[in-house]
Amino acid sequence: MIICSPVQAYYAGEVRVVIADKYSRSANGGVGFAKAAGNYAASFYPAKLAAEQGYQQVLWTDASTHEYLEEAGTMNVFFRINDTLITAPISDRILDGVTRKSLIQLAKDNNISCEVRAIKVSEIVEASKDGTLKEIFGAGTAAVISPIEGFEYKETYYELPEIGDHSYSSILKDKMLSIQHNLSDDKNGWRLEVK
Ligand SMILES: *Cc1c(COP(=O)(O)O)cnc(C)c1O
Repeated sequence: MIICSPVQAYYAGEVRVVIADKYSRSANGGVGFAKAAGNYAASFYPAKLAAEQGYQQVLWTDASTHEYLEEAGTMNVFFRINDTLITAPISDRILDGVTRKSLIQLAKDNNISCEVRAIKVSEIVEASKDGTLKEIFGAGTAAVISPIEGFEYKETYYELPEIGDHSYSSILKDKMLSIQHNLSDDKNGWRLEVK
């Protein structure tokens, strides 16, 4: 059985995020990797503080050092430096989302290089400063891909460039939706008939 329920758009309009340097949504030995309702609890207070500063979401970092980027709000997160996508490897603290997995495969299918590796906050800050950071986007079932316009880290705001239709986020979102809507080939066999 598949039960559907309508939801509002998660984010109306622009998404700016603040990088967590104090709070965490999940920790080692916890259940951050699972779709557990309890996982949301720890994110509400930091998200409220972020909202008071004008940010729609928190970019979560690892709980012990806050040096590595892990997730964006309730989504997995991808960074594009030059023409390469990067997303963190899954762990105790990171949800093994099907959208993340699908985007890694779609990137491969479309000759977009995609690295799965630890990614430091300092790398993203440097890449933003030298202009090689092109995109950041969240990935999850509800929004598929949610582009992020900029981030704050330690009281400095970093804006991302506007790329428009050629962004990896719009290309990959189109590819994903056309598979979901039965409008393109499904070479990975993701579509299943519900009988
Ligand atoms: C739901 C969720 C995701 C995305 O998972 P999908 O399977 O792609 O929907 C990522 N991170 C967190 C914390 C989530 O709750």
